[in-house]
Amino acid sequence: MAAGCMVVISGPSGSGKSSICRRLIQDPRVVFSVSATTRAPRAGEVDGVDYHFLSKERFREHIEKGEFIEHAEVHGNLYGTLRQPMDDAIAAGKVYLLEIDVQGALQLRELGIEAEYIFVAPPNHETLRERLVGRGTDAPEVIERRLKKALDEMEESHRYDHVVVNANLEAAIGEVLRIAGLDAPQEV
Ligand code: 5GP
Repeated sequence: MAAGCMVVISGPSGSGKSSICRRLIQDPRVVFSVSATTRAPRAGEVDGVDYHFLSKERFREHIEKGEFIEHAEVHGNLYGTLRQPMDDAIAAGKVYLLEIDVQGALQLRELGIEAEYIFVAPPNHETLRERLVGRGTDAPEVIERRLKKALDEMEESHRYDHVVVNANLEAAIGEVLRIAGLDAPQEV
């Protein structure tokens, strides 16, 4: 992959996709797509950095104005990718990184958006449950809901260009860096 491209990462909650993305965005060639969402911020999350936290009304305004390239309802909240920052980053020759759910990724694919589509999978179901419980941020019924969704999402993984099994975080990061063409040192 070269400059001015997109990398779309999906995977169940607890697959480790966020840890992989956090590493990728340390590279100055990478710009992270800050999604809009109607869910409440979690502790430590910053508006405009982790997400643009919007009311349902504001979110709907963006939909009506056609400002989202994709949007989807996930776990009862709305999430969407704004088109303008994406166009700006690609034009600036950046690697634009999206961490979005399966519905959103498949919407982009259907629109013919060129990207490396990467599905991050947990090594097995038990590891996924342990990671979701260990995170300690979600109530038991939320964990069960996320586990069920994870299993449904796993069935869509064959629709991605790459499936990265995250048994070992460093190895998974290395694989994603290679797919994104970020394993070589930056050209000067
Ligand atoms: P969380 O609330 O845990 O941050 O994210 C829940 C899910 O929403 C994750 O699977 C995440 O990848 C997905 N998500 C985040 N932003 C977007 C977006 O802009 N569009 C879509 N379709 N999904 C998103």
